[in-house]
Amino acid sequence: MPSFINEVEIARILEQNQRPDPAKVKAVLNKAKEMKGLDLEDVAVLSNISDPMQLFELFEEANLIKDKIYGKRLVIFAPLYISNLCANECSYCAFRAANKALERRSLSQEEIRRETEILVKQGHKRILLVAGESYPKQGFQYVIDSIASVYAAKVGNGAIRRVNANVAPLEIDEFKLLKEAGIGTYQLFQETYHHETYHKVHTGGKKKDYAYRATALHRAMEAGIDDVGIGVLFGLYNFRFELLALMQHIRELEQVFGVGPHTISVPRLEPATGSDIASHPPFAVADLDFRKIVAILRLAVPYTGIIMSTRETAQMRRETFALGVSQISAGSRTNPGGYTDSKHEDDGSQFCLGDHRSLDEVIRDVAEMGYIPSFCTGCYRLGRTGQDFMDRAKPGDIKNHCGPNAVSTFMEYLMDYATYETRLIGENVIEDVINSMHGIARERAVTLLEKVKKGKHDMYC
Ligand code: SAM
Ligand code: SF4
Repeated sequence: MPSFINEVEIARILEQNQRPDPAKVKAVLNKAKEMKGLDLEDVAVLSNISDPMQLFELFEEANLIKDKIYGKRLVIFAPLYISNLCANECSYCAFRAANKALERRSLSQEEIRRETEILVKQGHKRILLVAGESYPKQGFQYVIDSIASVYAAKVGNGAIRRVNANVAPLEIDEFKLLKEAGIGTYQLFQETYHHETYHKVHTGGKKKDYAYRATALHRAMEAGIDDVGIGVLFGLYNFRFELLALMQHIRELEQVFGVGPHTISVPRLEPATGSDIASHPPFAVADLDFRKIVAILRLAVPYTGIIMSTRETAQMRRETFALGVSQISAGSRTNPGGYTDSKHEDDGSQFCLGDHRSLDEVIRDVAEMGYIPSFCTGCYRLGRTGQDFMDRAKPGDIKNHCGPNAVSTFMEYLMDYATYETRLIGENVIEDVINSMHGIARERAVTLLEKVKKGKHDMYC
């Protein structure tokens, strides 16, 4: 186990903060107001609260911080599963090698282009490329070629402007190739930081090696990938332990590279074909605890994006927007070829989805709640990544880019792809949001919006 994950320290802190007194809880919530993040002990304190009033205060604080840093913005993306071939044995995943109940498939470059075109036609601009941990005969080059195919797909004025990737851990040289291929964020979840549990649920293939996986983001950053995404698969082990271990991982990245992760993902175990544990999670996380996890993370690492996937239901997703979620997927399929052949959603899927709505329906719903769906890819393309992004995010400067870019990319979506009803609702939200903006942010938003309304595309600052 790598030294930065210290189970003894976690056990001690959790033990000392089992029943935090109200004054301590108050002190942690007050500290959170400074938006400088929380330490392990603070996170342990908050993870143990259950009093309704204290929970209310936690949720309120998370909402305030989310509003201050992100405003009404919600970044939208779609996963693109290119292959479900896998050599590992993760007991919770339908893609695991021994699962015979799954149709295996890796998409050809032509098929990847077709899948991408479908997403582009829906209005998507950001993709998360996902694959099992085994590639067709081209080996790792398959991933590089696939990224190129996604970027090459064009339909009218539309194209994918940012490809993030969630693929197996790599060596530094391979990470360099991934960076050269133009990925935005490299995302990898440790699944569980609890050593014993990790070995119980990973019984075959390379993924058995805990340390190799836990140090993958170090290698990615050494290779020059500035934006990395971390996550835990909640349900495998005690969520309080996982939260503290996640904090240790974040602390390590901050200490070694001067900057922490760009995003945190919070997947909960969902039923998966041929997996018993996925339907009966040993440490199932209740809905209230799940909301608590999101709120605690928002307070603990205020400037890190929190991603909520379509594993969760529409209702749960709605509830967590106010608690700190800043990025959501929409209209997702988790089987390779699932966008082209949407009738056979369950053949070859990785897990069951909780939210089956189309992109347009999600966008309408989000807009009705007063949020601005953002398709912005400005930071990545202007080199505002890693340390540079965090340096700007902390004093609030990034908001002067994100707000205007969200407005302009949302307007572009409304004009090019939205249904009539969604467009009406969306234009009202844009007006409200612009009216609530001040200074340079407002000036930029108005300027970009005018250009988009005149038919210009890809306007950002
Ligand atoms: N194969 C690579 C890996 O394992 O990192 C990348 C892709 S894997 C398909 C992406 C993520 O899906 C995993 O990291 C895991 O957290 C998640 N996952 C697997 N099975 C799941 C399930 N039954 N419910 C929810 N998420 C699941
Ligand atoms: Fe393979 Fe990843 Fe699924 Fe594990 S989680 S079986 S490595 S695709």
